[in-house]
Amino acid sequence: MILTAPPRLLLVHAHPDDESLWTGGTIARYAANGAHVTLVTCTLGEEGEVIPDGLALLAADESDQLGGYRNGELRSACAALGVVDHRYLGGIGRWRDSGMVGVASNAKPRAFIQGDFTEQASALLEIIKEVRPDVVVTYGPDGGYGHPDHIRAHEITTVACAQSSDVRRVFHVVTSKRATEAGVAELSAVRDLPYRLPEPGELPVTPDEQISTVVQVADHLDAKLRALRAHQTQVTVWQNDSGWSCYALSNGIAQPIVDSEYYILASGVPDGIADDLFGGLG
Ligand SMILES: [Zn+2]
Repeated sequence: MILTAPPRLLLVHAHPDDESLWTGGTIARYAANGAHVTLVTCTLGEEGEVIPDGLALLAADESDQLGGYRNGELRSACAALGVVDHRYLGGIGRWRDSGMVGVASNAKPRAFIQGDFTEQASALLEIIKEVRPDVVVTYGPDGGYGHPDHIRAHEITTVACAQSSDVRRVFHVVTSKRATEAGVAELSAVRDLPYRLPEPGELPVTPDEQISTVVQVADHLDAKLRALRAHQTQVTVWQNDSGWSCYALSNGIAQPIVDSEYYILASGVPDGIADDLFGGLG
C-alpha cells in the first residue's frame, strides 16, 4: 500500500469575498480532488459597501456591524467551495479592513495597513509552519487592483513564504485580458443584462503573455456561483433563462464569469505548471 499525502494549497486573501471572486473555481476544483485547502483571510471587510437596501444599516458609517455579518457570508462561501480549514490572520477581528486607497478609514488604528508588518508576516508564517503548504496563492505586487489591503496581503505573503522551507511554489492570481475581453464581448450581446458593461480598460486585467498557469474551472462554476451568492452584501449574481451569467459588485459593472482562473508563478520550479498549480511537484 502506498500512502500519498494530499497536496496542500494555502490561499491568502484580504477580505471575505476575495477567495470566491479571484479563486473560487480553483478552490472548488482542488478541494473536490482531495487537496487540503487552507484559506487565510486578513480582515473582516468592515469597510465594504452594502448592496441590499435591507442590510444598509450594517455599514461602517451606520451600525458598523458589517464585519460580523460578512463572517457569516464567508462561512457559507467556504461551505460552497469545500474549504474546511479557514483562518483569520491573527484570529478573527485582529485587523480591520483599511478601505479603498486614500479614504479616511486607512488611518484607523486597527486598519490592516496600520498594523505591524512583522507581526502580520509572523502570524502568517505560524500558519504556514503548521499547514506546510506545497503551493501558496496571493495577489501580485499591485494587489490585483490597487487595494491597500491586497497589497499588504501580497507583501506579508512574500516575506512569510521566503522564510518557509515547505512552500514549493508561490503564485499570484490575476485576470486574463483575453478571457475578460471575450467575456465582455459575449455579455454585450445579452439584451436583458441588469448591469452596465465595463468601458475598455475599466476592469483590471493582465496581458496573457505574462500568465504562466491557466486552471480550468468549468466543472466547478456552480460552486463558484454559490459562493459568490453567499456574499450577498458585496456581490450580485445574474443568470437568465438562456444560461448567461455574470456578476457585479456595488459599482454595478457587469463582470463575466469565465471558465478558467489565471496565475503567474512568482517563485518555485516552473516545470509542469501550464494547467496545474501542483503540476510536476510529484
Ligand atoms: Zn478585497
